[in-house]
Amino acid sequence: MAAAVPPIKGARSRLRAHFLQNLGRVIHADELREVAGGTSEWARRVRELRGEEGSLILTHNDRAELKPGQYLLESAKPQPASARGISKETRAFVLDRNGFTCQMCGAVAGEVHPFDASRKTRLHIGHIIDKSLGGSDEPANLRAICSVCNEGASNITLQRPGLAKLLVQVRRATTLDQRAVLVWLQKKFGA
Ligand SMILES: [Zn+2]
Repeated sequence: MAAAVPPIKGARSRLRAHFLQNLGRVIHADELREVAGGTSEWARRVRELRGEEGSLILTHNDRAELKPGQYLLESAKPQPASARGISKETRAFVLDRNGFTCQMCGAVAGEVHPFDASRKTRLHIGHIIDKSLGGSDEPANLRAICSVCNEGASNITLQRPGLAKLLVQVRRATTLDQRAVLVWLQKKFGA
């Protein structure tokens, strides 16, 4: 039986299957192009997997150890569907309102993650009250959440620290770190 040229239509499913078969392995763009059947559209298909299917395919924008043109899928578990129906405008609004900062751990978009130095912080939009519990897609029920918190990897920080606890932490910190906190606060409040 002669091998037929795979139809372009199936490129996305082939890419999906390839990522799932290669969980945890860094895949180069050339390989993805080949899997997609040589179509120049492979990059768009990968964006669809990320955007429409919520596949957490990582790139150099997410991980410091990845180079441009390298892709990595670590978990077969996609981003929850509930977080995918939110418009670009609402996402932008919520991210801006939250200062591009994870509302659980304080990590800032694009910066190295405070709890995992190998990762750059990537923000998602999360529901404050889960949709399954009747929470809405309105901006008031949405917040910026980093991928580490989204995966539940930093659940030690699920609650915001209270003022008393926070001050104790700052008082115990080194002078150098206290000064860094001061600089950060001045920058934030324009003092
Ligand atoms: Zn976080």
